[in-house]
Amino acid sequence: MTTPTSISIPKLRADVRGQVIGPDDAEYDQARAVFYGGFDLYPAVIVRVADEVDIARVIALARETGLELAVRSGGHSVIGQGVSDGGIVIDLARMRAIDVDAEGRAAWAQTGLTALEFTTATHAHGLGVGFGDTGSVGIGGITLGGGVGYLVRKHGLTIDSLLAAEIVTADGELHDVDAEHEPDLFWAIRGGGGNFGVATRFRFALHPLDTVVGGMLMLPATVDTIEGFMAEAEAAPEELSSIANVMRAPPMPFVPEELHGKLSIMALMTYAGDVEAGQRAMAPFRALAEPLADMLRPMPYPEVYPPEEEDYHPVATAHTMFVDSIGRPEAETILEHLATSTAMMGVAQLRTLRGAMARVPVDATAFAHRGSRIMVNCAALYERPEEIEVHGPWIESLATALKQEDDGAYVNFLGFDGEARIRDAYPGPTWDRLRKIKTRYDPTNLFRRNQNIPPATADAA
Ligand SMILES: Cc1cc2nc3c(=O)[nH]c(=O)nc-3n(C[C@H](O)[C@H](O)[C@H](O)COP(=O)(O)OP(=O)(O)OC[C@H]3O[C@@H](n4cnc5c(N)ncnc54)[C@H](O)[C@@H]3O)c2cc1C
Repeated sequence: MTTPTSISIPKLRADVRGQVIGPDDAEYDQARAVFYGGFDLYPAVIVRVADEVDIARVIALARETGLELAVRSGGHSVIGQGVSDGGIVIDLARMRAIDVDAEGRAAWAQTGLTALEFTTATHAHGLGVGFGDTGSVGIGGITLGGGVGYLVRKHGLTIDSLLAAEIVTADGELHDVDAEHEPDLFWAIRGGGGNFGVATRFRFALHPLDTVVGGMLMLPATVDTIEGFMAEAEAAPEELSSIANVMRAPPMPFVPEELHGKLSIMALMTYAGDVEAGQRAMAPFRALAEPLADMLRPMPYPEVYPPEEEDYHPVATAHTMFVDSIGRPEAETILEHLATSTAMMGVAQLRTLRGAMARVPVDATAFAHRGSRIMVNCAALYERPEEIEVHGPWIESLATALKQEDDGAYVNFLGFDGEARIRDAYPGPTWDRLRKIKTRYDPTNLFRRNQNIPPATADAA
């Protein structure tokens, strides 16, 4: 990979305070790697920006050169959009400051932080915000898309705790946005993804979150347990959010060897409230069948994020959707499909929603699926990219069989699904409003390496 003549790495180094990484640098391969495997992309340059002045400088460079611009926070885009092939990457890894105002129950956080880093810093004050199910996800990407995790029923989406943001737009200007200042832009970045500029800082409202009852409950997966689990998850108090992964039990240390490969519900659960009430709320789930493993326990909130292996970079494909119910027929469909999956891991992930998430008006944020009841992700994890030929059709077959009335999609879990599914993420008036705001703030579609919302100017072109 050579650097295009239009970019002078020494000049860029002189121009920015942050770190400039070019193809000849020792760190280049590590810096261009993203969470999922299968994305072997070679950017012209990666700039680990130090501040908003650097960001404006790199944005100007992208405009001058016409090269694609990627923006990276935690690198967990499911389709590798935090890096670019031949383009320029703004990497926020060096922007990780957090300023907690414990008394005011709020924090300003730079967007290079991961969910776990943020959570650890706020937990020191007994406070927190819900992100997703994985600690290494960047707060940049997850927040801009919505954020569905362990507190979704208790405190809503991540964006439902977002009070304000700072964002550098395509003209290099820094905007301070909140409900009063540029409310359209503030609306758009709560679900509209990275389409509107580079978010440098978020201000979150913090919730009291000290000890929760959380961890994993592993049950045998049968039609009865899947149906029962989903019914209990819906009936549970809002303090309890769950992510039920129906899959073959992996060969992990906590799974007895004789159970490896057995169809199981591996449920990640969090009860954010009184510990005794939490134990009571878990009882109906524990009673569904003799648990294969029961790791639910009172724990400091940051421990809800399972430990991660640094070198784990599987290839993944998924189909995300919403459904109204998972009853017996759907449970049967899931089990039949899992029985035929040849992936390293085939999974039907079921997230029961509603609660606080559903109480926010549909038009209050660019995330518009407030009425959706259950999020389903049909996914396969495997070793070699070419295996998609087998696992892709398996996923589509499962998703087609589970499809119900709800046509929506959650943008942060969309893959290479195409424009129609991006429209499903932003139904009706949401799409029209997003396009107007995109046209105002990014008329040339500089921020296009994302699930793209094209500006109206793109129609004329
Ligand atoms: C293992 C795993 C588990 C996940 N679990 C959940 C979950 O439980 N709940 C959930 O809601 N989502 C989940 N996700 C999806 C995740 O929210 C999205 O992939 C998200 O975009 C990742 O953010 P990131 O900053 O880590 O990724 P990156 O790849 O760094 O960024 C993704 C995109 O976000 C935009 N972006 C990121 N930072 C900024 C910024 N500061 N300014 C402007 N644009 C920016 C860019 O368009 C970029 O292409 C998961 C993903 C993975 C890989």
